[in-house]
Amino acid sequence: MGAIGEYFQNIKETVSTIFEGMAVTASHFMRKPYTVQYPDRIAVRVQDTLPYRYRGILNVDLEICTGCLACERACPIDCIVIACEKDQKTKVLTISQFDIDIIKCMYCGLCSEPCPTGAIHHTSEFEGADFSTESMIRRFVTDPIDAYKPKKGPETDERIAPILNRGMRYINEFATPGQAWAGGAVVNGAPPADGEEEADAQE
Ligand code: SF4
Ligand code: SF4
Repeated sequence: MGAIGEYFQNIKETVSTIFEGMAVTASHFMRKPYTVQYPDRIAVRVQDTLPYRYRGILNVDLEICTGCLACERACPIDCIVIACEKDQKTKVLTISQFDIDIIKCMYCGLCSEPCPTGAIHHTSEFEGADFSTESMIRRFVTDPIDAYKPKKGPETDERIAPILNRGMRYINEFATPGQAWAGGAVVNGAPPADGEEEADAQE
């Protein structure tokens, strides 16, 4: 083939290649999309479709937090900051600060495994973006609150019982079974009784 023939052959191949590519692109206009528009074109919230064991943003039920600090100690990157004070006369432990920095959190779940009551737990929430690093620190204590003291028997407080049940279910089904309480065995799915948690609580 002469130089002129080769020249026109190149033009022909270029044009045909462009049309092949455009045909592939155009075919996508005719197909049903595989993706969905987020977040407004779905029948149910994405959070509600996630698996039960999904590890999303942490939440804390302060009503059943014993202030044992096990979660704070377990976090490998110091996301959790808890401050507790014990009244030496009444022996009541008060939690004055419970912060979790969700910027640093890597959702490893190590903090929830040693929690004796399931107070700290992952949720299916993942939309944590915000406008400042300060607002990414979740502060769970607004007013100092007395730490939870597990009862010897079943929890009788009607307000606390369902929260504790949820927590214990979380421990049994989500966090590592049988290793929920770092300071002693969880007996029959119940958290440690009065006094047992104090050994681990902050002095
Ligand atoms: S999930 Fe992991 S990184 Fe996040 S607070 Fe718990 S232990 Fe720390
Ligand atoms: S009870 Fe759970 S959430 Fe509260 S300090 Fe202990 S490990 Fe953390």
